[in-house]
Amino acid sequence: MRLGDDDTMKFIDAHAHMISRTTDDYEAMAASGVVAVIEPAFWLGQPRTNVGSYLDYLSTLVGFERFRASQFGIRHYCTVGLNSKEANNEELAEAVMDLIPRFALKEGVVAIGEIGYDEQTPLEDKYFRLQLDLARELDLPVMIHTPHRDKKRGTTRSMDVCIEHGLEPGKVIIDHNNEETVREVLDRGFWAAFSIYPCTKMGNARMVEILRHYGADRIIVDSACDWGISEPLAVAKTAKLALQSGVPEEHVRLACYRNALEAYGQSGQMSEEDWLNPPPIDQRTLYEGNSILRGGRPPVVEARRSARSADDLVIE
Ligand SMILES: [Zn+2]
Repeated sequence: MRLGDDDTMKFIDAHAHMISRTTDDYEAMAASGVVAVIEPAFWLGQPRTNVGSYLDYLSTLVGFERFRASQFGIRHYCTVGLNSKEANNEELAEAVMDLIPRFALKEGVVAIGEIGYDEQTPLEDKYFRLQLDLARELDLPVMIHTPHRDKKRGTTRSMDVCIEHGLEPGKVIIDHNNEETVREVLDRGFWAAFSIYPCTKMGNARMVEILRHYGADRIIVDSACDWGISEPLAVAKTAKLALQSGVPEEHVRLACYRNALEAYGQSGQMSEEDWLNPPPIDQRTLYEGNSILRGGRPPVVEARRSARSADDLVIE
């Protein structure tokens, strides 16, 4: 999206489960202006049966997926944590809790997350609290997944528990907000993130109305794209619709770029320097001997990085 002569709009997708997405998605995201993604640790759509699966998953987030993103000119960061669904398997949860500190201080880890409540069970509560204590000890931001059922109560409770455990609201990002939850989250000083889903839940148009009504302070727009029906271009499309709808450009920059950088940059692991002068893409590069190339496809090798444009984005 070109706004001025040399003023291409940049985006951060602060919630994207990229291991489930294709290389086409990475290419399209980069072309739309996405310079960085944050991949929160979450479940896989079915329960893991042992801690080894978790170990390999977290290793992928800080390892191969980071490399894969770089091959398309996108900086990849992640959050690590035990998700609420799998907190209900106590044996697994205990073993995962031993792993989290090992990963939390690795390069590119910008928060503990996504953690919080699903069905709001006692075990979910137990492991949520333990991970909040860990985040406080390590001085890391926290990404909170708010429940899809009983969302209002679950969101309020998540914030109450954060305060109880001594976390500063300014270091906690509450995700999956909607019109019912946003006011309280902002009033209490937390970051309010919105996952933009196609067709259902939060869509582009609803998000634009929220930006009109609340402005953009402490608001973050993300795609939460994963293995389900989701839209990896949701951030760029929302930005485009917001601009077309008369939302001030500065507000779009805050909600789709700057706020995510400020919130997760508190980890000390994410800075604008990471992508402002990026190394050229060289798809001949290997990760532990492995390439993203297949067959006879010629590698992309850039002399220098080119400017991007999202002018041709189609908003459904
Ligand atoms: Zn997620």
